Amino acid sequence: MNCGKCDEEMADGMVEVHGTIGGFLLFGWSLQHLFWYASDRVSRKATMVVGSGRARDAWACRECGLITINAGGEASKGTRGSF
Ligand SMILES: [Zn+2]
Repeated sequence: MNCGKCDEEMADGMVEVHGTIGGFLLFGWSLQHLFWYASDRVSRKATMVVGSGRARDAWACRECGLITINAGGEASKGTRGSF
């Protein structure tokens, strides 16, 4: 897949939402999710992209930093697992 911003080839991978052992020691368990909002925020309706402890296939552009996430299903490679 090529980057939609700069057209360089993107690296295959995934994104994942999970806690870290440092966060657990400092704050305990806290569930966090990644949400997407329309830029106008007129509706203020959020779309959950990745839930806590879940993963999605993603591609990263090492040239400009753009990350593209396939929010339409679980990651094909499973999760890395939390700490
Ligand atoms: Zn790019």
